[in-house]
Amino acid sequence: STQILLASRPTGWPTQDNFTTVKRELADLKAGEVRVRNEFVSVDPYMRGRMNDTRSYIPSFQIGEQILGGAIGRVVLSADEALPEGTLVSHQHGWSDLVQAEAASFKAVPDLPGVPSSLRLHILGMTGLTAYVGLSHIANLEAGDTVFISGAAGAVGTAAGQIAKLMGAKRVIGSAGSAEKVELLTSKYGYDTAFNYKDGDVRGQLAAAAPEGIDVYFDNVGGDHLEAALASFNDGGRAALCGAISSYNTSEVPAGPNNMTNMVTRGLKMQGFTLSNYLFLSPEFGERMGQWFAEGKIAYDETIVEGIENTVDAFLDMMRGANTGKMLVRI
Ligand code: NDP
Repeated sequence: STQILLASRPTGWPTQDNFTTVKRELADLKAGEVRVRNEFVSVDPYMRGRMNDTRSYIPSFQIGEQILGGAIGRVVLSADEALPEGTLVSHQHGWSDLVQAEAASFKAVPDLPGVPSSLRLHILGMTGLTAYVGLSHIANLEAGDTVFISGAAGAVGTAAGQIAKLMGAKRVIGSAGSAEKVELLTSKYGYDTAFNYKDGDVRGQLAAAAPEGIDVYFDNVGGDHLEAALASFNDGGRAALCGAISSYNTSEVPAGPNNMTNMVTRGLKMQGFTLSNYLFLSPEFGERMGQWFAEGKIAYDETIVEGIENTVDAFLDMMRGANTGKMLVRI
């Protein structure tokens, strides 16, 4: 099995030196264990936080230990009757090509014709659920709302734009970091309008895109984007604070929002959330997203990097914006 370990803790942007790749012989299978060959391994922004030694909602990675995270694969050897050979499974064993562990640490997922296994790592899985929870249960999206979504061309953002529309948003505005991504937001993902934040003046671009103001902000970016949203909020606005990727790889303290008094005067509600506290919504999401998907109402993109040995590059490129939709590593 080829496994990627954390070698040292990064400061600012990680480099290849922060990781090591090892090849390990797998032991004979014990009773109750299965061996899984991964099909896709996920690289996600939250993994950057786990590389720091700070208290968070999820434990830090330990130096010398494997990077853990979402992956999907197939059972190739089984010593547990619950997961026979050939079963498609999702799990959290992370960055490796082959994994062997207790059967209970894997979850069988439906292997449906026309549904690529990779979708279980994004639009039908974690990032889709995150978009759904943030819009429906944190920001309390209502029909007729004007919604702004940052990081709109990524895995969470492409799901969020479509879900907002399907839930009756009047207008959905997105921001992303290239002209191609911006074009895709309106042509494929149901955004009414979008802008490239790298053109500068996020506050001015948002105000121009939403002359009537915004009611809901789904924040993937923080910093200048949160600042812009605070300025554009209508009275009674609601923000779901999902992530703040603009600060994940900086070592300086980012500039804070200047408009916090608008929280008070406009009666805004901003709430942060981590999906780990809302997993109970998974069946509800599965039902609604399953229906939308079956009706052909859901689009997605994947940016796929080949080979477990390129996982670190995939992770770093994702945080630099090389992906449209979900960044995955095919094993
Ligand atoms: P994405 O697929 O969106 O990939 C990250 C994207 O971030 C890049 O493609 C890049 O796109 C954008 N980006 C990078 N740096 C900046 C910057 N300085 N300013 C603006 N955009 C930037 O990742 P995910 O969809 O997996 O995650 C999106 C967000 O959701 C992250 O903040 C993540 O931490 C959060 N999240 C939170 C969860 C929760 O439980 N709260 C669960 C899952 C994700 P571009 O080209 O547009 O710059």
